Amino acid sequence: MSISNKLARKELLAMVPYQSARRLFASGAASQGQVWLNANEAAGAGRYQVNGDNINRYPDFQPENLLNAYSDYCGLTKAHILATRGADEGIELIIRAFCQAYQDNIIICPPTYGMYAISAENHGAGIISVPLTSELGLDIAKLRTQVGRAKVVFLCSPGNPTGNLLSKQDIASALELFSESAIVVVDEAYIEFCPEQTVLSWLAKYPQLVILRTLSKAFALAGLRCGFTLASPAIITLLSKVIAPYPIAAPVADIASTALAPSGLKEMSSRVQETNNLRAQLSAWLSEQPWCKQVFNADANFLLFRCQNQALKDYIFQCLVAQGILIRDQSKQPSLAHCLRISIGSAEELTLLQQTLSDSFADKTAPKAIKEN
Ligand SMILES: *Cc1c(COP(=O)(O)O)cnc(C)c1O
Repeated sequence: MSISNKLARKELLAMVPYQSARRLFASGAASQGQVWLNANEAAGAGRYQVNGDNINRYPDFQPENLLNAYSDYCGLTKAHILATRGADEGIELIIRAFCQAYQDNIIICPPTYGMYAISAENHGAGIISVPLTSELGLDIAKLRTQVGRAKVVFLCSPGNPTGNLLSKQDIASALELFSESAIVVVDEAYIEFCPEQTVLSWLAKYPQLVILRTLSKAFALAGLRCGFTLASPAIITLLSKVIAPYPIAAPVADIASTALAPSGLKEMSSRVQETNNLRAQLSAWLSEQPWCKQVFNADANFLLFRCQNQALKDYIFQCLVAQGILIRDQSKQPSLAHCLRISIGSAEELTLLQQTLSDSFADKTAPKAIKEN
């Protein structure tokens, strides 16, 4: 055994890192010309200027221009906001701040976002799984049986990879259930696609509520790595003790502030409108296809659908890859057999996807797809 493996924490040797869309298919020069519909990114990049005048200096711990901009956007004071390297860093900080390693647990409600479990594993926190119901809602009765057994509960609304909102009633029930015993995180990475559904105003009522936000989805800035954790000042103070001393690079703060200025917000809103329209069109088209068994309700920038069987699922995935169109296979998630997820790219990209699938099923070697509902 190598010296490094001999010395390493034992659980890391067997651990599989998060299989991000970009690890599964790297974006290197070899893959130019591909259509990326596998990571819920926005289709087009904005144009930004960065100011390098003070790049010899360390940035502020929490750059003021950035915090002011997000405070104006969300309506909370700066004491309720922590800027992080993506919402992913917020997930990690919460686990590190609240879970004693090899002692405390988190609760996840799969099918859900993979980073909650990865961050827990990395830190040595246990994972309690309380799956969503068959209607993809919270299983309140099962959550009730876990009260007192976890320090952090992760809820995702709209959910990834499912796309649907959790009912506000259920989120409130979870907050009541865990009011004395756990931090309840509501991951709102996709909330700009249905802004009226945010639970932001509940921060005043529930001191153990934490909300995660990101610029990676509706703001079209996944490459920037900028997210926000919203919570009580007491929680923000705790998280500030665990985060790195200079988490936000100065150029990141400049670009993010521009994206959050009034003209940036206007662009974001029209992007959301366009995405929601394209999603509705794609959803209608998918529902008509004989190989498609179910299209899930979605309030985010992607659609999840279930194929009639595994052979059809594999055929669809492979036909798209052969044409350089990458979508995400979600069929290994609990209760998502034969399911694929398509990010809402540009109108041209989605037309290309539909054309490619129509052509593939016109081929007489295609597996038979008979609509059976
Ligand atoms: C994309 C995503 C994130 C992570 O966003 P980053 O800000 O890019 O780290 C967090 N939660 C969910 C549900 C996501 O889909």
